[in-house]
This record gives sequence, C-alpha cells and structure tokens, in this order.
Amino acid sequence: MPKYVYDFTEGNKDLKDLLGGKGANLAEMTNIGLPVPPGFTITAEACRHYLGHGGMPEGLEEEIGEHLADLEERMGKRLGQADDPLLVSVRSGAKFSMPGMMETVLNVGLNDDSVLGLAKQSGNDRFAWDSYRRLIQMFGKTVLDIDGELFEHAMDDLKGEREDTDLDAADLQRLVETFKGIVRERTGRDFPADPREQMDLAVKAVFDSWNAPRAILYRRQERIPADLGTAVNVVAMVFGNMGPDSGTGVAFTRDPGSGRQGVYGDYLRNAQGEDVVAGIRNTVPLQELETINPEAYRRLLDIMATLERHYRDLCDIEFTIERGRLWMLQTRVGKRTAAAAFCIATQLVDEGLIDMDEAVTWVTGDQLAQLMFPRFAATAGNHRLTTGMNASPGAAAGRAVFSSERAVELAGRGEAVILVRRETNPDDLAGMIAAHGVLTSRGGKTSHAAVVARGMGKTCVCGAEELEVDPHARRFTAPGGVVVDEGDVISIDGGTGAVYLGEVPVTASPVAEYFEGEPAGDELVRAVDRIMTHADSVRRLAVRANADTPEDAVRARRYGAQGIGLCRTEHMFLGERRRLVEDLILATTPEERQAALDALEPMQTGDFTGIFEAMRGLPVTIRLIDPPLHEFLPDLTDLAVKVALADDRADGRADGRAGGGADDRDRRLLDAVKRLHEQNPMLGLRGVRLGLTVPGLFAMQVRAIAAAARRVEGACAEIMIPLVGAVQELEIVKEEAERILAEAGVEAAIGTMIEVPRAALTAGQIAEAAEFFSFGTNDLTQMTWGFSRDDVESAFFGTYLDLGVFGVSPFESVDREGVGRLMRIAVEEGRRTRPDLKLGICGEHGGDPDSVHFCHEIGLDYVSCSPFRIPVARLEAGRAALTCAQSDTR
Ligand code: PEP
Ligand code: MG
Repeated sequence: MPKYVYDFTEGNKDLKDLLGGKGANLAEMTNIGLPVPPGFTITAEACRHYLGHGGMPEGLEEEIGEHLADLEERMGKRLGQADDPLLVSVRSGAKFSMPGMMETVLNVGLNDDSVLGLAKQSGNDRFAWDSYRRLIQMFGKTVLDIDGELFEHAMDDLKGEREDTDLDAADLQRLVETFKGIVRERTGRDFPADPREQMDLAVKAVFDSWNAPRAILYRRQERIPADLGTAVNVVAMVFGNMGPDSGTGVAFTRDPGSGRQGVYGDYLRNAQGEDVVAGIRNTVPLQELETINPEAYRRLLDIMATLERHYRDLCDIEFTIERGRLWMLQTRVGKRTAAAAFCIATQLVDEGLIDMDEAVTWVTGDQLAQLMFPRFAATAGNHRLTTGMNASPGAAAGRAVFSSERAVELAGRGEAVILVRRETNPDDLAGMIAAHGVLTSRGGKTSHAAVVARGMGKTCVCGAEELEVDPHARRFTAPGGVVVDEGDVISIDGGTGAVYLGEVPVTASPVAEYFEGEPAGDELVRAVDRIMTHADSVRRLAVRANADTPEDAVRARRYGAQGIGLCRTEHMFLGERRRLVEDLILATTPEERQAALDALEPMQTGDFTGIFEAMRGLPVTIRLIDPPLHEFLPDLTDLAVKVALADDRADGRADGRAGGGADDRDRRLLDAVKRLHEQNPMLGLRGVRLGLTVPGLFAMQVRAIAAAARRVEGACAEIMIPLVGAVQELEIVKEEAERILAEAGVEAAIGTMIEVPRAALTAGQIAEAAEFFSFGTNDLTQMTWGFSRDDVESAFFGTYLDLGVFGVSPFESVDREGVGRLMRIAVEEGRRTRPDLKLGICGEHGGDPDSVHFCHEIGLDYVSCSPFRIPVARLEAGRAALTCAQSDTR
C-alpha cells in the first residue's frame, strides 16, 4: 500500500510532485532547523485517488490518525481537547503555485467546549471567540458550500459603524451563535463539533477544490496539467492574533523588482494571514518590526539569510509571530521581474552561491525578450480602445495611417506613424518599414503582419477584430463608436495587445541598445552581458537568422547570428520588379519568358551580392521562390473593375469612334489572374511545384546565386528548395542547379525544407538528394493539423485555448507530440541515410524558447529566427545544453 502521509520531518524540497510546493518546502525548512509548526502532508497521490475513485483510498484515515496522534504527542495536547485544545490548519498545496485558487481552513478543532479551553489557556476571551467564528465562517463557506456573503452580512450587521477590532468577546460569542444558525439553516444540520470530523471534512474539501471552476481555468491558462491533484498540509496552528506582541507578515529575501539585497516585506500586527490577503487593515513595512519586536526581527533576518544560502535564490516567505515567538509558515523560490532575474543571478554568482552554469538556467528567454522591447512607462488613465493579439512585442505610439504609401510619406516627414490595415500583404512592406508599429483587425500570430513585424522587431497588434477598419475612408471605428481618423494619434502595446487612443509615453530598452553594440553600462546590462557570454560558451545549437536584406543581415550579425538560415527571395520580386514578373507570367513563347527572366537575373545577382557581403564568411541559406505566382499579380476584383470601367467608357463614347476600352495588357493580366486563381493557394502551385512548372525560374535564381558568390570573397551559399514532398521533385531541381553551379565553378550545398508531412515521413529518401534539411515548421504545422495559418488563429484559437485543446498555439511553440514527432522521424531517418546531414529549423518556432529546447533535444545543428529573436535563441540554446540530459541523435 502506498504511503499517503508524510510528517514534515520525512519530506524535503525535491518531493514537490508528491507533497506539493508548500509541503515540500515546509519539510525542507523543518529539516534545516527552522521554526516550523509541526505537521504532516497528505500526498497529491491520495488526492488523485480520491478524485478518481470518488472516495478516500483504503487505509488513509488510519494513516492520518497515526500522524495526528504523533502530532498530539509532540504538542502535549489533543485535537480539540476541551481544556487545552490543539488546533490545526488544513491547507492546500499543489506542485505548482496556484495562488488563491484552492481552499484553506484554519482553527480546526474548535467547538463549544474547546473554545473555553482556548480562552483559558490564552487568557484572552476575545481571541478565542474570534478564532471560533473564523472557523465556522471558513468551514461554512469552503466545506459546507454556504454563500460566504451570508456570514459577511451577519458580521456587518453586528459591527454597524465599528471596526473588526472593536468587537469584544461578547459580540464575537453572539456572532458564533448567528453563524451556527446560518449553518443549521443552510445545511439542515449543526456545525460539526467533533474535531476529527472537522478535519476529515476539511481535507476532502481541499481535495475537491482542485476541480473548482476557477482552479480549472487557472490551470488551463498557466498550462498546469489537470491530473496532478493537490497535497494537503495539516499544521499545528500558531496565532498572530493573540495580542500586540503577535502578528503576521510576508517578506522577500531581496527586492523582487530590482534584485537589490535588503528587507522587503509587510507586517500586520495582531492578525492572521488571511487578514493580510483580504486587506482588511493596512500593513506596515517590515522594517518597523525592528521597533515592534527587535528580537523576532533579528531572528527573521537570520532565517532569511539561511534560506537564501540554502535555496541559493531569492525566496519569499510567510511568517507568524505568536506572543513574540517567530514561526515560518511557508517559503518558496520567489517570483521576480525580468530585470531582477538577471541581476539576482549574477549577484548570486558574485556571492559564491551559484556558478555561471546555474546563472544561465536561473533566467529565461521570455525574461530576456521582455527586456529588449521599448515599453509604455504607464498606461493607467489612457483610453483603451480594444485588445487584439499581442503579435510582436514592444510599445509604439504614432499617427494612424491606412495605407503603405501614406505611412512612407508621413514617416518621410519625420512623423511617427502606426500603419492600420485589415490585414497586410507583401505590398505593405514599405509602409511597415516606415511605421513605428502595425495594427491589423484580422489575422493571427502567423499572419503576414505578425511574421513580418516580428522579423523587423516592430511592435504589432493583430487580429483586433472589434475594430472596423475602412481603408478607403481612412478611418477605423472602435467599440462604443469611437472613430479614429487618419492622423489621429494611437498607441499600441505588442506585449498585451492593447490599443489606446492618444499618445502613451514610451521608454527605450538599454538591453536592446546593448545588443545593437552599445557598451554594457548599468548593472542590468552588465548582468545580461555576462549571462549571454556564458550561454554562448556552453550551447551546442548554432543560431542563425531569417534575413532577406543586407540591412537585416548586418543587424543579425550584430545580434550574434552565425549565418542566415532562411533568406526568403519572394520580396525581391515586388515593387518595380513586379512588372517583370508580370511579363514572365504573360509570356506566350519561350523567348518572351527568357527575356523576362534575363531582365530579373542581374537584379537578383545584386540582391544576393549584398547579402553575401554582409555575411562574408558565414553560411547563407537562400530559399528559391516559394509563394504562388498570383501573389505578384493585381487583385482579381480590382483588375476586373478596372477592365470593366474602361470598356464601359469606350462603349459610351459619344463621338462613335471605334477602339479604346481596357488596354491589352490589363486584359491579358485579367485572364492570367483568373487562370492562376486557386481555392487553396497554400496547397497549390507554389514552392518546388512552381520551379518544376515555370521553366527557367529556378535556374535564373541559381545563376544569380552563383554569380553573386563569385563576386564576393568568402561567400558561402546554400540553396534551399521549398515545399518538397517527394525526393523526385528535389532530384530534378538539383540536377539542373548542380549543372549551373558547375558551369560557374561555384560550390554550394543543396538542401530542402521539410515542411510537408510527406517530406518528414520519407526523409530517408529525401536525404539521398538533400545535403541539409531545414524544418519549415510554419507550413509543417499548417499541414499536420490541417490549420490554415492565415485564418485559424483569429477565427477559433481563442475558443480552443479556453477549451484547453492546447495551452499555446502550435504556430507559436512546436507541438511536440504531433509536428514534433514528424520532426523526430525526419531527423532519425535523414541521418540514417546521410550521417553528416545538416539539420536546422527556420519556421517561426526557431525563436520560441520551448521550441529551441525541443530542437536541442532532437539533435538539430541550428535554429534560425528573425534577427530580434537571436539573443533569446542564444540564451535558450545555452539553457537547453545545461538542462537537457539527452541531446544529439548522432
Ligand atoms: C515555414 O513554412 O516554416 C517557412 C519558414 O516558410 P514560410 O513561412 O515562408 O512559408
Ligand atoms: Mg513554408
């Protein structure tokens, strides 16, 4: 039979799975000799059994009985003993902290007899009756499910204009009778007087509270597994409400906001813990305890120092002072701000408590990301218009503009602008570059706006569906009918998704300035520098950048990129070059097609030359053109209207002259747009399929790569074929590419993206032709789940997250079980065919902390992400190397 109950002397801090965080740390403190009231923990396993079987496991009641008897012996009194009662608290405590989500019952063991014993022993009638009324109130609400307001109203009625503390023993005795009446009336039975029955019912109520709606909701949000259950701690009561020499407080061992050492906490005299939480009376700063009770204060500081040394980290604690005597009720490694996390980690190194390896694992990539973006100094008092998706972090304020052209125009005059669109497309690129931030009313976190903005390190809020954006009228309407016209100032928060009317002041990030090359100045930046340097020295994964322009490439290098993992080539066909692409599409003879390609080739050569120069000596993976061709053509409706209007005008000519109407090119373009129209373009003619059906297109790109590589000394090109699903596709493209490279006398590795499930499943074959794989996890996620990446996030992911289908969007963090399984298969089978196969990832997941760990675990060689996410990827790659035992399948 499993052991379900552990005395505090039996546990330790590493048993959180079994004893919960609170129980494990109470045991740890007990064992290092700190003053913890004696008690025991009923395991989470017992809770799981109770919830799964609808009853206590066999033998549990006896086991509790034995531990209770032990506790009674140590305390020299029995639970609820009439003349001198032992009282206990029954407290929840799950593995992960779920603040306020589950239940606690204090003062268990009081009844009409023992209240008199407590009064006598304490010499304080008021205290005894107050404790009793608290028990009935808490027990009634938590265990007997009575509406808590009934008790509160009864108390308010009694108090009238008075404070809690003005109630005397007789008042409280009367209140106890009233409370007992409420229990009788609401449950049809008397408040249970038997102390053991009180305790058993309280334990069950704590178990049940694991499945309270608010706890379920909290777990979903925090991604805490639903099946862990909670442990229950039964602890001998100590009282902070025994008079002026008693009290209760909370403290941090150093400042959770800055990391600075010192005394940080609050103290409340003559009170129990829940009074602090409920904010019934105002607390005083902990320093005042030095005057109130110098001895307890000194002891507390000693204990805090012991805890820091022992846990080797910032701890937060809860304590109670009972008649001058200090008791520790809880401790845990404390939450802190991102800035404090970095400072504390290096302070602990300097104090000799941890080494640099540990310092790297004491911080997270999410914390680093928070430190890199500008943010609003304060948002309180600003008019929030709506909240969309927090697509790319940071904070930006500027004039709303509704077209790319206008963004460029106003930015050119030195104005800060926010580009507002329903959704963006490649034509908006110039406007996005010019804008301080981007706001869209449609699309999710992998929509064009989100991906491109993240790539640029630009603040973006997308999918703000409550906004009605009217680009023609140049305005949007927010809920409540608020209209924002072009030129009105708005502010957007990419960290929270909030959209504000007017200007909210923004502060710059010194950490971002450091990554841009500023010397490490203040304590925080110095801490970041030390931790990053160490993370780089221990990581196995290389970090590359997704960069399409020389400017991005230069920035990526500054941020520490070791190459380019994805250079998308499609934007190189926009702008003025679009006409040449149209020529290519409209070509009716091989000669016309070749002429269009010949016109594009020198431009492509120029593009690649710039990037090779920026990355000289480092590998550059260039992906041949990927999107469907119609993306380069005008919009079907716009063009149809243009042609129809021109024809109408011609028909209606008064002079009767023949001719006129839409020009021939427009007409042919319209035909092409109709011909190329696809129901599911993302699953249509794109990627390698395009390369195989438009003769000369890929060949032109390969020739341009070869020519650029010849121009730049130290150029290191890798050619990547997108959307391959079968080795045959790759073989055909590769044959031609190799011929062109050989003619040019240039060497370049040829590889493929793994972004179609079939590619992952046939990776063994594909590796026969590919020298490297790069996981395109955007498409791989889209095609594995059957989720349209441009649509689903704003359409129903909110509902899916609420329903707990997943805790985080699979477009953000690699879905390990599904997409991740395909990746593992591809890694294993690919390397079986070709042991030196180089493996990377270039989907958005390459900069996501959890996904970086996954990539490390399955043995990839590098991750590639947008330049601004490189520091996060470097840090997480270091953390993965330090925390992940298994790595590298080679
Ligand atoms: C991908 O699919 O993961 C990828 C990087 O390609 P794109 O996002 O350009 O389709
Ligand atoms: Mg793709």
